Amino acid sequence: MDYVVRATAGQGSVRAFAARTTELVSKAAGIHGLYPVASAALGRVLTAAGMMAVDMKGSDNVLSIIVKGSGPLGSVVSVAKSNGTMKGYVDHPKVDLPLNQLGKLDVGNAIGPDGKLTVIKDLGLKEPYVGQTDLVSGEIGEDMANYFWVSEQQPSVVAVGVLVNPDLSIKAAGGYIIQPLPDANEEIIANLEIKLRELPAISSLIDEGKSPEEVLELLLGEYELKLLDKTPLKFECDCNRERLERVVLGLGKMELQEIIETEGEAELVCHYCNTKYDFNKEQLSALLEQA
Ligand code: ZN
Repeated sequence: MDYVVRATAGQGSVRAFAARTTELVSKAAGIHGLYPVASAALGRVLTAAGMMAVDMKGSDNVLSIIVKGSGPLGSVVSVAKSNGTMKGYVDHPKVDLPLNQLGKLDVGNAIGPDGKLTVIKDLGLKEPYVGQTDLVSGEIGEDMANYFWVSEQQPSVVAVGVLVNPDLSIKAAGGYIIQPLPDANEEIIANLEIKLRELPAISSLIDEGKSPEEVLELLLGEYELKLLDKTPLKFECDCNRERLERVVLGLGKMELQEIIETEGEAELVCHYCNTKYDFNKEQLSALLEQA
């Protein structure tokens, strides 16, 4: 089961999140037919979104991360609710790039390097909170850390990773975020820096069978690590026919009339889950009457 844990350490002076997202990234890869570098990119963004979403207070709050770089993937979009339900897509799922110099999936060049990272938090208020920063490398972890620093003035360590099998299935996926608050003492931070250098990549730790709790134990176990809560994460789209009817209505009378006269039918596909919704002439005419 995929889930995210929230924790504190150093008597509340350090905030920490860790997640295992192997199953939800597998589901996203299957639905969208992702090539490995696309799985890694979307998986990293989904993992970051999941960890951030459970930190919102309202039960129906929604957090979106949109990464739009200059690379061949186009936009990478993830939407996560505070209850752990997530969805996402990439513009171009069949991107294939050679491995980078480190022998790893080249997410940086598939996404970026130039572009923007946008975080939208819908907290049920009149206006959503929107924060946007420039991409640093397109590797997502660094870009998210930069976002936290520039947009929320919060120093953060962000690690997100996905291992893809040769048959394109997902071997392991997960991540962690560590955020020292202003009262965190220097010893904890210095120790954390050493740990971060020594520790294998998060995707390897998850692949070895480490749980999110165990990952945090490795990083902060010596400093009164306190688990706050645990939230299941899953990839599940919330689209339905009614919602797509509203999209059809949104086309306006003129356009709808034209579709009825020329095509006589319409097929709409949900970006997030690839579900197809067919509208025949009668259904379109009924919608036209409503319009
Ligand atoms: Zn959908």
